[in-house]
Amino acid sequence: MDGNIDNIAEDNALESRRLPILGVTIAFLMVVAVSILGIYGLQVASSKAHELEQARLVSGNLALSIAQQATDTFDEANLILEELIERLDDLSPEALEKTQKLMKKRVAATEQLHGLFFYDRQGNWVLTSFDYKPPKANNSDRDYFKFHQENATLAPRVGEALQSKTTGDWVIPFSRRVNDADGNFKGVVLATIKLAYFDTFFDRFSIDDKGAIFLALPQGTIIARRPFDEKLIGASLARGEIFSVHIPRAPADTVMVKSIIDGVDRLFGYQVLHKYPLVVAAANSRESILSRWRADTYQLTAMIAVVLLINLMIGILLFKQVRKGLLVEGHLKKARAELQTLVLQDGLTGLANRRHLERNLELEWRRAARQRSSISLIMLDIDHFKTFNDRYGHVAGDHCICAVAQAIKQSVHRPSDLAVRYGGEEFAILLPDTEPGGAYVLAENIRLAVQALAIDHAENAGGVVTISLGVYTCVPASSDFNTLLTRADSALYMAKRSGRNQTVPSS
Ligand code: GH3
Ligand code: MG
Ligand code: MG
Repeated sequence: MDGNIDNIAEDNALESRRLPILGVTIAFLMVVAVSILGIYGLQVASSKAHELEQARLVSGNLALSIAQQATDTFDEANLILEELIERLDDLSPEALEKTQKLMKKRVAATEQLHGLFFYDRQGNWVLTSFDYKPPKANNSDRDYFKFHQENATLAPRVGEALQSKTTGDWVIPFSRRVNDADGNFKGVVLATIKLAYFDTFFDRFSIDDKGAIFLALPQGTIIARRPFDEKLIGASLARGEIFSVHIPRAPADTVMVKSIIDGVDRLFGYQVLHKYPLVVAAANSRESILSRWRADTYQLTAMIAVVLLINLMIGILLFKQVRKGLLVEGHLKKARAELQTLVLQDGLTGLANRRHLERNLELEWRRAARQRSSISLIMLDIDHFKTFNDRYGHVAGDHCICAVAQAIKQSVHRPSDLAVRYGGEEFAILLPDTEPGGAYVLAENIRLAVQALAIDHAENAGGVVTISLGVYTCVPASSDFNTLLTRADSALYMAKRSGRNQTVPSS
């Protein structure tokens, strides 16, 4: 029996130390799911950042190299204009003829050049690389002419793209002021640069279908663009983000911008040219930059979804198993508790049994010893029960035992008192913290209660069932708790010997 007590205590200790398994299972699965989602989120974000970073480098390099080539293109034209200006010191007809020949030679030899011109201080055509010169032609109405007329600077000027009066081609006017020896305005030299040249030049760079390259004046006027669209030449980007926000902040950068022309998001690399009043910009569309990332992300998302689904399924399975386990454990515990009761209970009377008494006896004995309190035990036995059985039969005997048990039950009130069927028609009542007087009174009450039942017993004195009781009380001084049993039993023996139907306290 002691083993049993130990088991229960051990179980309780384990119970308090055990983790709430269902909660732990759910928490574990959640942690797995959240971790997977976290890793997924990080991976997606970092691969996107990586793609954008790469694209930033590409756009930046693209802008740099276009800027370099545009500078080279205008440098070449600038050198030719410079050469022309030197020649214009001499305006004699022979010199002019020679200069025109040189102009033709330069235009023929320079891919980007459309034509070369010299206008006098009134804007009249003096020289052109073309054979045909319109009669009385005058360009004093052109912006570049007015600019040089009014501004003393000798720096070259790039103008808005326009259609040539001579050939109808789209050209970019690149002009310089010419001064006479005294520094007075003497006219303007102009190189027209083929817009078509920039188309082929832009085509050499690789951008995606929705990408864009443009060359613009600092205030945002487009002078060349890929993809080419005649309507956009001369259009203004001044209100666009690049010109309104970014260029004032930095002369070169890479920025993600929504185009004000077509609404496409593009990653632009732009650069303000050092030597000429020009801005170049090149961009790939955000869509193409992120297309591979998007495809990879879809793939990864599908894989993650499968993993999470598997996790969820395993989770549900695990959850069910754990719950089932807990349910079984619950049933087992209940069954065990029931068994425990059965083991400690007397089947016939419903009182506790002898095992129960033995289990409590030592505990109460020790407690009483610790507290120096009295502990009492009543032993009682039905008188002449053998003859009762003989006369009324065993079934009646069992009923009689039950009736006595009932009488005992009704007389014992304190929760710490323990009444047991000790064996056959013998009972014991353990009374912790009870003085001899109290135990004796209780024993007498029981005796009288049984007698009052008035169960017929013809062979017994008085004709009814009676009981004899022995009572022993002590304050435990030794560890021998069996003293209680033996001393109460001998008192009972005394009661029998003294004529039965009485209570004898142990002396
Ligand atoms: P005494 O007054 O000295 O106690 O005489 P007694 O005849 O009662 O003697 P004892 O206590 O030794 O008798 C026990 C008898 O009780 C033996 C048996 O016939 C009967 N008995 C014991 N257990 C049971 C039981 O469970 N049911 C029934 N019907 N009888 C039992
Ligand atoms: Mg007996
Ligand atoms: Mg008896």
